[in-house]
Amino acid sequence: MLLRLAIQKSGRLSDKSIDLLHGCGIRFSHPKGRLRAVSDNFPIEILYLRDDDIPGYVADGVADLGMVGENVVLEKGVQVEEVRRLGFGRCRLAIALPRGERYDGVSSLQGRHLATSYPRLLERFLSENGVQASIHEISGSVEIAPGIGLADGICDLVSTGSTLLSNGLKEVETILRSEAVLVANPDLSEEKRQLLERIGFRMDAVLRSKGFRYILLNAPVGAVGQIIRLLPGMRSPTVVPLADEGWVSIHSVIQDDDFWSIVDQLKEAGAEGMLVVPIEKMVM
Ligand code: ATP
Ligand code: ZN
Repeated sequence: MLLRLAIQKSGRLSDKSIDLLHGCGIRFSHPKGRLRAVSDNFPIEILYLRDDDIPGYVADGVADLGMVGENVVLEKGVQVEEVRRLGFGRCRLAIALPRGERYDGVSSLQGRHLATSYPRLLERFLSENGVQASIHEISGSVEIAPGIGLADGICDLVSTGSTLLSNGLKEVETILRSEAVLVANPDLSEEKRQLLERIGFRMDAVLRSKGFRYILLNAPVGAVGQIIRLLPGMRSPTVVPLADEGWVSIHSVIQDDDFWSIVDQLKEAGAEGMLVVPIEKMVM
């Protein structure tokens, strides 16, 4: 028996999905043009699909699991279980208008024509806000719609905003914040659930390590107390004696961004030879 996992065939989520699975120690090939691959070291089959099809296939049970943008899951409105947020593919679904337009809140959208690939989520946002606007569903290149006179504004995915900018648009409302999620068919067999749990456990270890670094440094014994206060670590930092008497090596875990904010204090406390290295997995 194989667990079937659908991931995006080619697009923004493909590489990160594959990296995450490899980080979980699941080996499989990614042959060009092929639709599926079976792992040789875990009972799992990978299906390569268009992202739009993934929620439906998981809901129908064609696939047991899927990795896909939460935006697509919510737009499709199908019954799947969200089992993990995956921390990549972050974006927002936003309404944008031509830069020169005046905008005084949602009421400015009244009576407008908006182009989008997300009619369902846009409709929900408009009705929750008591706004009547017409929605033109288009499947790609939404951002050019106002420029060619197809719509007054758009509702589309944005990450940096540079695409909007280069099309003369400004973001006026965020209607959803999204990232890639792992979804599961709600009726998995007990056996498949157990496999899902094994993968989930591995994913947690990989995801948890994101944003953390391992730090090693040398310090005089007398400075240990002060340095440990700066580096609380996972439980308590490791302190090992160096061959050079009176000196120790301190090992700990720090948040990625924290290093630069404490480096001066560490130096002042007497730390030397600091190494900050990446962590692949953290198992608690
Ligand atoms: P497919 O060929 O599989 O249908 P697609 O063109 O619909 O691909 P992509 O553009 O690869 O999809 O985007 C896949 C997902 O990446 C989106 O659904 C969204 O969750 C996420 N994403 C992150 N940032 C952005 C962005 N700036 N624009 C679009 N999608 C983004
Ligand atoms: Zn798509």
